[in-house]
Amino acid sequence: MSQAFSEGDASATPSRKVFVKTYGCQMNVYDSQRMTDALAADGYVATEAMEEADLVLLNTCHIREKAAEKVYSELGRIREIKRERERTGAEMLIGVTGCVAQAEGREIIRRAPVVDLVIGPQTYHRLPDALRKARVGEKTVDTDYAVEDKFEHLPQPKSAEIARRGVTAFLSVQEGCDKFCTFCVVPYTRGAEVSRPVSQILAEAERLVAAGMREITLLGQNVNAWRAEGPDGKDWGLGRLLFRLADIPGLARLRYTTSHPRDMDDELIAAHRDLCSLMPYLHLPVQAGSDRILKAMNRRHKAADYLALIERIRTARPDIAMSGDFIVGFPGETDEDFEATLNIVREVGYAQAFSFKYSPRPGTPGAEMKDHVPETLKDERLQRLQALLAEQQHAFTQSRVGMRFDVLIDKPGRRAGQKAGRSPWLQPVIIDERAGEIGDIIPVRITRTEASTLFAETL
Ligand code: SAM
Ligand code: SF4
Repeated sequence: MSQAFSEGDASATPSRKVFVKTYGCQMNVYDSQRMTDALAADGYVATEAMEEADLVLLNTCHIREKAAEKVYSELGRIREIKRERERTGAEMLIGVTGCVAQAEGREIIRRAPVVDLVIGPQTYHRLPDALRKARVGEKTVDTDYAVEDKFEHLPQPKSAEIARRGVTAFLSVQEGCDKFCTFCVVPYTRGAEVSRPVSQILAEAERLVAAGMREITLLGQNVNAWRAEGPDGKDWGLGRLLFRLADIPGLARLRYTTSHPRDMDDELIAAHRDLCSLMPYLHLPVQAGSDRILKAMNRRHKAADYLALIERIRTARPDIAMSGDFIVGFPGETDEDFEATLNIVREVGYAQAFSFKYSPRPGTPGAEMKDHVPETLKDERLQRLQALLAEQQHAFTQSRVGMRFDVLIDKPGRRAGQKAGRSPWLQPVIIDERAGEIGDIIPVRITRTEASTLFAETL
């Protein structure tokens, strides 16, 4: 996914323009917004046209195969645009941020000398400093795991800027990961698990709601591993935090992602039972269904543990929709192991899921393992898994037809006369544009579906 941001204040006279291209997960989308905020304090406004940007930032993701190569080829394209701009006497600084920046570091400047700054995910607050240096020709490579808290140093956006972003917001509460699944680069690129303090999270949530946000999604690489001391001096987990956030007047909907099965504790499950503002949707990756493969992946749970957990969650919140991530073709995966993955999918029944072919990441234990599965077999397994998951997603979407529930209207529809919103289970819902205003939560009845989109009439 890539996205350009446009949070500039149209009324101010812009001195400089920044184009941010975001790759990867919601955490990167959130980080891009916070970087844009940091730059706004430095006089930058966002643009969606790279050609007119004085600063181009690639906020990169390292999770997919050949991620770094894709960044280098994008930098080649940007170099041409920079040359064009320089012909007209205009400047263009170029920065690489995010997980590829963390993983590649100085190598980026060696391979792409056009780059002025390389900044890892923990040091975005030092971006304005790096820019000052870049303007006098000094390149920066800053991939420390900073001792200071970047969130303390990042400026907050103004209310009007938050409001321009819509009615749903992301809020990072946790970063990094200590789990070390053997296939994954995250513990190396994002560092150890760090939880933001309660006071910081509450202040940010209150600011978002005061600016008109109706829904907040708490983010973390391992969001349910979040832990911090509460104002009562007790140790709070994510469940307790959700109970507290649910008390904020005007905050209608809460979500969180991504969770690890090992960190789903009783209080978090109780939050699903007791909080009507906590949406009945849970992304809880299991990755594989075979205990042998789960062990090799260092997932620290067995298939039966996962199934028992889902049962407890469904007992607490019967209408919860499950989502997950799956990897096929992990080293040593036999036909029998793969069948176990299909079986766990059949047992759980997913409303939505993401599935990937295993691809080795240099520096992770998985890459060193024997018995890599041939690509053709991975392709075949992925196709079979995706066919099953698509069938389940279709069944879930179909089962909404005739149902009545509340929809949060969050944007104009793509076609004239329409507005779009989200169901409690995250499907897009299309309604008549006169049904309500953006930010309203209205009762609807689903009349039909098109792929995973629901169409509704108002009640
Ligand atoms: N922390 C989350 C978790 O534990 O599920 C998500 C981590 S990662 C950003 C998102 C997904 O990418 C993983 O759940 C996994 O399915 C997939 N993934 C990560 N590394 C991979 C690799 N080397 N090959 C294929 N898929 C991978
Ligand atoms: Fe990666 Fe595993 Fe951590 Fe998720 S829990 S970020 S898959 S190491």
